[in-house]
Amino acid sequence: MARPLFRHESSLRHDTGSHPERAGRIVAVERELAARDWCGFSPEDSPEATVEQLLAVHPRPHVERIRALSAAGGGRIDADTIVSAGSWEAALHAAGGAVAMVDRLLAGGATRAVSLHRPPGHHCETAEPMGFCLFNSVAIAARHATGVHGLERVLVFDWDVHHGNGTAEIFAGAGDVLFASIHEFPLYPGTGRPTEVGHGAGEGLTVNLPVPGGTGDDTWVGLTEDVVLPIARSWAPQLVLVSAGYDAHADDPLAGCEVTDEGFARIAAAAHRLADELGVPLGMVLEGGYDVDALARSVAATLETWSAAPGPAPSAPSADPVVLRAREHFAARWPVLQGD
Ligand SMILES: [Zn+2]
Repeated sequence: MARPLFRHESSLRHDTGSHPERAGRIVAVERELAARDWCGFSPEDSPEATVEQLLAVHPRPHVERIRALSAAGGGRIDADTIVSAGSWEAALHAAGGAVAMVDRLLAGGATRAVSLHRPPGHHCETAEPMGFCLFNSVAIAARHATGVHGLERVLVFDWDVHHGNGTAEIFAGAGDVLFASIHEFPLYPGTGRPTEVGHGAGEGLTVNLPVPGGTGDDTWVGLTEDVVLPIARSWAPQLVLVSAGYDAHADDPLAGCEVTDEGFARIAAAAHRLADELGVPLGMVLEGGYDVDALARSVAATLETWSAAPGPAPSAPSADPVVLRAREHFAARWPVLQGD
């Protein structure tokens, strides 16, 4: 079965100058993937998102602000977040690739698909572009899955080293999106405490799993296998979306975690096994990752893992204290975490 990989050359025209979130990231990823025959995926050009698709998440003044700033030749949103003349087109394809990925996954033509674009999206809130992000592509994709396709439960698993504050804010009150995030804390943007659990219909559907700087593979994999997976199994999402950042890598210059290429392969394998067990499709949207070589290798490791049959679960539960504390914290709300 074909596994589509959505990409678009407009990602290279979002010109941020000398900035860690730069066009060379995509160049490096595509070079690595091409050298590995795209790791079993089929590259195809993404469409632009429609304004209507953006408006499912962002208010019109936010959309118009990005369009106008880009049309005027660009400028700064904040100290970190830059718009250039090419950014509007790039951001439309970044969101459009994520939407097209969902369409393909839910049409039944593919069980795994990826959307590899820039700018990234997970820091962008409902009405606030920030943190290198102009529109929240994974949120737009999740809203497309619920609003257009009628899904009732979508999981967004965010393994970027930074908390996906935008996605968390957008879905904090939503009963149809479960947001689970592993992130270094404290670190930009300063949100992501385990006590932030959502509200209203979304109460309990935000699962924040902070880790200290220096945290490596075993803790990241343990949190994935022994917290994210059991919670997700018990909630039974109809679609698994990953906000896939690779800045938890040991070589990354923007954060202090110590995940290896192999660690990302293990985390990706767990997400694959989850989707396979549930019999639901799996897609990923690229977020951060600022050491271009580590990023390229780790994306390739993810795609290779998703092209193979899902591997077996770990033979024993994690005894890592960070994992055990997280299980204890969330056990009252998620009984599946009690016992073992
Ligand atoms: Zn990040």
